[in-house]
Amino acid sequence: MDFDLPPEHASFRDAVRELAQSVALPLAAEVDRDHRFPEEAVSAAAAAGLLGILIPREYGGAGLDALAFTLCIDELAQACASTSVIIDVHTSVGSEPILLFGTDEQKRQWLPRLASGEMLGAFALTEPAAGSDAASLQTTARRHGDGYVLNGTKVFITNIGRAGLYVVFARTGPEERAAGVSAFLVPADTPGLRVGQMFKKMGLNGSPTGELVLEDVLVPVANRLAAEGQGFTVAMRALDSGRIGISGQALGIGQAAVDEATTVLKGRRLGQLGSPHPAGSLRERADLPTWWGGQGDDFTLADMATRLESARLLAYNAAWLCAAGRPFTRSASIAKLHCTDTTMQLALDALQLAGEEGAVSGSPFERHVRDAKALQIYEGSNQVQRIVIAREVMQL
Ligand SMILES: Cc1cc2nc3c(=O)[nH]c(=O)nc-3n(C[C@H](O)[C@H](O)[C@H](O)COP(=O)(O)OP(=O)(O)OC[C@H]3O[C@@H](n4cnc5c(N)ncnc54)[C@H](O)[C@@H]3O)c2cc1C
Repeated sequence: MDFDLPPEHASFRDAVRELAQSVALPLAAEVDRDHRFPEEAVSAAAAAGLLGILIPREYGGAGLDALAFTLCIDELAQACASTSVIIDVHTSVGSEPILLFGTDEQKRQWLPRLASGEMLGAFALTEPAAGSDAASLQTTARRHGDGYVLNGTKVFITNIGRAGLYVVFARTGPEERAAGVSAFLVPADTPGLRVGQMFKKMGLNGSPTGELVLEDVLVPVANRLAAEGQGFTVAMRALDSGRIGISGQALGIGQAAVDEATTVLKGRRLGQLGSPHPAGSLRERADLPTWWGGQGDDFTLADMATRLESARLLAYNAAWLCAAGRPFTRSASIAKLHCTDTTMQLALDALQLAGEEGAVSGSPFERHVRDAKALQIYEGSNQVQRIVIAREVMQL
C-alpha cells in the first residue's frame, strides 16, 4: 500500500498551489468583504486549464481524474473558499453530467466551451419546497413539438448569473417523484430564463448564489440529458462525485485554519522565549508558570492536526475509488460528512486559539468559520449523508 501521491498528481498540486497562493489568496479577504466575484482568480484558473480538469483532452480538457480534482479544490480553498466553490460546482455538478450522460453531439457542443472557461457551468436542482427531498421538485417540462417548455423556480443556485449553461432538473411525466424527473441543458441566454432574487450569505461571499426563474423556457429535445425519467439518476450520480469535490474544499479550509492556528501558537511560543507577548495577555505575566496557556493550546492543535489528517485520508480514498472506476457512493458520503464536520470544528478551534485576533471581523479565522458552514448543508446536508451511508451499510 502506497500513501504517496503519484508524482504527476504531486506536481499538479504544486502548480495549483502556486496559482492559488499568488492569485486567489491576495483576493480572499476583499471578495469576502465586498461580496464580489473573484474574477481574476477564476480567469487565471481558466487560463491554466483548471476549468477542464475532468474533461477529456479530445474535448479540450486536461483529462485528469477525481484525485487531481480533489487536490485542485483543496489548494484553491486553502487560498479562497469562494473561488474553490465556483470552480468546484462548474467542474463537478455543472459539467460532469454531460461527460457521464451526454450524447456525442452534446459533448462536442458544450464540453470544449466549459473546459476552456468560455462559459461556467451550474447545477439547478433545489427548489423552495425541494431541498433534501429533491425528488419532490415541482418545476415542469411539458413536451411541445420538438422541445419542452420549462416552468418553475430554482433556489440557491451557485454560479447564478455567471454561468453560461445550467443543468436543470424538471418533471416531465406524471410518474411519482424521482421517476418523473428529467435533466436539461439550458443555455443562460435562452428566452424566459432569468436570474431572480440573489441571496446574501454568511460566507462564501464571492460565490454568487440566487434564484433561477424559468418562465416558458423552450428547450429543444436535443438538450435533454439522458432519457426522459432518468434525470434523478443524473442528479444523484453528479452529486456522488460532487461530494468528493466538497470534501476537497473542506480539506482546504481546514488546512488554512490549522496553518493559521500554528502560526499564532508559534508566535506565542517565540514570545515566551524572549520577545514580548501581546499587551495585556495573561501570558506576559512573569509570575505565571511557563506552561500557562501553552500545553492546552498544543493539545488543541494536535487534535486539529489529527482530525485533518484523518479527513484527508477519507477524501483521497473516495477520490481514488472514483478514479479507479469502482463503486464510491458510500465513500464519497463518508468523506463529505467527515471532512465538512471536521472542518467546521477546525475553523472554530482555530478561532478560539487565536482569541480576540480571530474574532475581529475580516480576520481569516472568522472567515473560515463563516465559509465552512455551508459545506455541511450543500450537495446533500450532513443528515442526508448519514441516510446515504446507513442505507449503503445495510445494503438497502
Ligand atoms: C451556499 C449554498 C450553495 C448551494 N448551491 C446549490 C446549487 O448550486 N444547486 C442546487 O441545486 N442547490 C444548491 N444549494 C442547495 C442545497 O443543496 C440545499 O440547501 C440542501 O440540499 C438542503 O436543502 P434545504 O436547504 O432545502 O434544507 P431542507 O431539506 O429543508 O432541510 C432542513 C434541515 O433538515 C434536515 N433534514 C432534511 N431531511 C431530513 C431527513 N430525512 N432526516 C434528517 N434530517 C433531515 C436537513 O439536513 C437540514 O438540516 C446550495 C445551498 C447553499 C447553502
